[in-house]
Amino acid sequence: MKVYNTLTKKVEPFVPNHPNEVKMYTCGPTVYDYAHIGNLRTYIFEDVLEKSLNYLGYSVIRTMNITDVGHLSNDSDDGEDKMLKGALREKKSVYEIAQFYTDAFFEDCQKLNIAKPKYVSKASDHISDYINMIEKLLQDGYAYQANGNVYFDVSKMPHYYELSGKNPDDLKIAVRDDVDHDTYKKNPADFGLWFTNSKFNDQAMKWDSPWGIGYPGWHIECSNIAIHFLGEYLDIHCGGIDNIFPHHSNEIAQSEAYLGHKWCNYWMHGEYLNDETGKMSKSKGEFLTLSLLIQKGYDPLSYRYFCLESHYRKQLAFSYSSLDRAVSSYQSLKNKVKNITVNEDEKIDETLFQTYQQKFKDALNDDLNTANALTVLYEVLKSNMNGKTKRELVKDFDQVLSLSLLESNEIDEDLKQKVLSMIEERKLAKQKKDFEKADEIRNQLKEMGIQIKDTREGTIFEKIN
Ligand SMILES: [Zn+2]
Repeated sequence: MKVYNTLTKKVEPFVPNHPNEVKMYTCGPTVYDYAHIGNLRTYIFEDVLEKSLNYLGYSVIRTMNITDVGHLSNDSDDGEDKMLKGALREKKSVYEIAQFYTDAFFEDCQKLNIAKPKYVSKASDHISDYINMIEKLLQDGYAYQANGNVYFDVSKMPHYYELSGKNPDDLKIAVRDDVDHDTYKKNPADFGLWFTNSKFNDQAMKWDSPWGIGYPGWHIECSNIAIHFLGEYLDIHCGGIDNIFPHHSNEIAQSEAYLGHKWCNYWMHGEYLNDETGKMSKSKGEFLTLSLLIQKGYDPLSYRYFCLESHYRKQLAFSYSSLDRAVSSYQSLKNKVKNITVNEDEKIDETLFQTYQQKFKDALNDDLNTANALTVLYEVLKSNMNGKTKRELVKDFDQVLSLSLLESNEIDEDLKQKVLSMIEERKLAKQKKDFEKADEIRNQLKEMGIQIKDTREGTIFEKIN
């Protein structure tokens, strides 16, 4: 397999540290709000990468963090605690907020057929790991204390700007513009490892430490969670392109200073999803979540299809009209699969099966070219091979694509009538304020594989896989 490595800025052959085994780390969500579909694009890319590696014969051990310790709005020690902001907005404790949005995140992932990594761990569960790492960094002279906080001294790492390719002189100005109270830092790019004294004293989660009661910097969690579950050598580290600087640059600095050797060989980054105004973010425009798309009647898997149509390293422009085009392509693809006729006495044509399987592998081997992988699928469907071979190839490719190509979302007439009468029954229960009964009916429907949603136009339902 060849992949683009952000560290070397080249497409290069992928060679893991141990043959056939891949240790992969992916940065997880910050759980103070719903994920927006731009974030979810990155998780789709990482899911396809993991599944492709598995498909190509590697055994992948993947780890992901959940950022529940309030991480600040930028790298400096200003900004506000996002967790606390979420808690105040919703009148819940920070821990309740974190749990709620963690669950929401994994529900989104499930709807998008994104597999859960083998290890998922909360940042707040690793405080003692951070303290150990920071103590060693202080001992070895990579970190220093100033104004009650512990900072990492980036001047100690000559390769600090290698991943981002940034020019330190340009950055000095940018960082200084951004932060007006970093006079305690030795270099403007130094980043916090532990805070006991922040300009904004509204951090809700705090722990005791050798440097006083406080909380960890954001970057320290990924280094520790990765090392905790995957050991000292990492094959692939992924994230969104906005993580390259400072987050991943800081992860490399502190991990390599701590370990005393190179940490991770391949860094892969998913590009932005843009809207009409530019980069999609939580702070501007319509807040596009998967739930919003579902409310508007979109099948989550048509969004997955939309993402797979383009390369993960290309910026993708989102608009409802482009999503609509993906919806009709995805629907017609599913119809083509549905219309494959299989005769029971047919045999799989092994030669054709292997030829197309190899083409599919070639597309994935080419830095995860999912658009070409889809093209191979269309070639299979268009070809005149027998139905059984076609069907087996679709099943085989769908291990990576995860578009539920062989599953039907259609509901037969009997089930439809039953669902409609249960929805009516639930409506009556709600009118009588018998919410217990209403919830019970919702749960019964869920057990039958039916998801309902109350909208202004009434209750709608869909079959869940
Ligand atoms: Zn991270």
